[in-house]
Amino acid sequence: VRVGIGDDCALLRARAGEELAVTTDLSIDGRHFRLEWHSPEVVGHRTLARGLSDLAAMGARPVAAFLSLGLPPELIRNRWPQHPWIGRFYDGLLKLAAEYKTPLAGGDLAESPVAVADIVLIGAVPRGRAMLRSGARAGDRIYATGALGGAAAGLARIAELAAEAGPATVKRPLRIPARLRAALEPHFNPRPRVAQGLWLVRNRVATAGLDLSDGLSTDLNHLCEESGVAAEVNAAAVPVYRYTAAGGATLEQALHGGEDYELLFTAGPKTRVPRSIAGVQVTEIGRVVRRRAGRPLVTLITASGARPLEPRGWEHFS
Ligand SMILES: [Mg+2]
Repeated sequence: VRVGIGDDCALLRARAGEELAVTTDLSIDGRHFRLEWHSPEVVGHRTLARGLSDLAAMGARPVAAFLSLGLPPELIRNRWPQHPWIGRFYDGLLKLAAEYKTPLAGGDLAESPVAVADIVLIGAVPRGRAMLRSGARAGDRIYATGALGGAAAGLARIAELAAEAGPATVKRPLRIPARLRAALEPHFNPRPRVAQGLWLVRNRVATAGLDLSDGLSTDLNHLCEESGVAAEVNAAAVPVYRYTAAGGATLEQALHGGEDYELLFTAGPKTRVPRSIAGVQVTEIGRVVRRRAGRPLVTLITASGARPLEPRGWEHFS
């Protein structure tokens, strides 16, 4: 970033041999977050995490972020006794931005009847090397980073809490007990797999890839459509999120729950894929097969037989 906030435009200087990756994500109160459930810091963190995860999905290095906010007047003005909402929102967003070395290089703020945050992320990737959804071939193995279902399990727990606690408001938000912190970590504090995406591109390991934002069943179907292939997932191999021996996600949440922001990628059968990349585990969960008429795009293989894995990704709060 040569010129950031303060002038009419930001000026970005591209490095030789790179191309730019651009992604935009809209977060709306009641749809992607709830003001009465999510602290301002969590909303800020999750807003940026969505964009960073899309860069990770292509193996792009973050260059700059641009943020447009529309907020109800009471969230902008400093009416509250302690912190104004918008200041805490920026705290959450800028903390993650600093960790991922992503400068906020511009944006806009306006009053709006509904809280909305629109984030634009610019990344850079060596020319012709970005991970695409379209490169998977029959015979490739399918891998996932990290563990799946944690965000959906956390969201389900929050919904239970909210049902027990009765109506919450922005000024009197849902109280989250400290004992639930580990259980809610994947939902409140997702860690985009930028380092893992960069590693995959640098080492030319992946034939195709995307991030798990909508859920494994939905995102793997997307990958198969773009690559013109089908896939088989081994249910027993799916890394289901656990935070204690007793607590964690269900297999259904791991298969269909969105917002895990892990990477799903494919690699050739002879490619050596490490068990972990930049400190995050990598698990082989299935294989790419030829597409056949009358057969499902994605098949789930379980101990009791095979069944189609229909895209049933989470529709958040709809
Ligand atoms: Mg994505």
